[in-house]
Amino acid sequence: MSTDPAEVYRDGLAHGELRYQRCQWCFTRFANVSLLCATCGGPDFVWERSSGQGRIHALPRTTLAPDWQERTAVVELDEGFRMWAQLAPTPAHRIWQGAPVRLEVAETSDGSLRPLFRPSAA
Ligand SMILES: [Zn+2]
Repeated sequence: MSTDPAEVYRDGLAHGELRYQRCQWCFTRFANVSLLCATCGGPDFVWERSSGQGRIHALPRTTLAPDWQERTAVVELDEGFRMWAQLAPTPAHRIWQGAPVRLEVAETSDGSLRPLFRPSAA
């Protein structure tokens, strides 16, 4: 496996996985690839694979958009880290703070992959 963090992350998405980094020293988990731990300043990370299950942690006001439009939200993964992410197009009544979501991988118009979260409540 490559050691280039951006490549490890992309490779994860290509396998339908969300990979994240955990600090080896203080165990803080990060969605974004970083060189130093924002909590303890440590330089050593290990890669872990998220279950892809989480909840909507926060919704910016601008998410009050028509149903067809993609919304952005702060998603908190079950592993305990948070990330900004797109939500799959979903009827507004299924999107609320605390709503369960699960990972999907979407392809952008330029062919790159990005994580997308689909509200999974019935
Ligand atoms: Zn740390």
